[in-house]
Amino acid sequence: MSENPLEGGCLCGAVRYAAAGAPLFTALCHCSMCRRANAAPAVAWAMFATEQVRFTKGTPAHYASSPEARRGFCAACGTQISFTASFLPGLIDITIGSLDRPEAVPPALHYWDKKRLPWMKFADDLPRYPELPPTE
Ligand SMILES: [Zn+2]
Ligand SMILES: [Zn+2]
Repeated sequence: MSENPLEGGCLCGAVRYAAAGAPLFTALCHCSMCRRANAAPAVAWAMFATEQVRFTKGTPAHYASSPEARRGFCAACGTQISFTASFLPGLIDITIGSLDRPEAVPPALHYWDKKRLPWMKFADDLPRYPELPPTE
């Protein structure tokens, strides 16, 4: 793998991964499915090409949160780690919160902002999209 790997893993350490190179995209998602899956008011994601991410210890278990989508998590401790979907071919989202240095990977925008919890206020000027952001 190349320079500057971003490493992370679950709470118990059974699943570890390394991502090579910079993420393609970062965002905070306010959708109700991410919220429920992570039991968190919003979830920060870093998107990578599938080949950028390598599991270095263990492998996530998967839950199909919809017919198109799979959420990867540690079967031992429950940490949410990944999101992959048939509508995002060749891509994998990694939870920024599972990185060892999440402070190094700030989100660039908010999406599904129309589902944001009313008490969840962010003091940032990042772009906000009511649903999915436009794809380039
Ligand atoms: Zn674990
Ligand atoms: Zn979401």
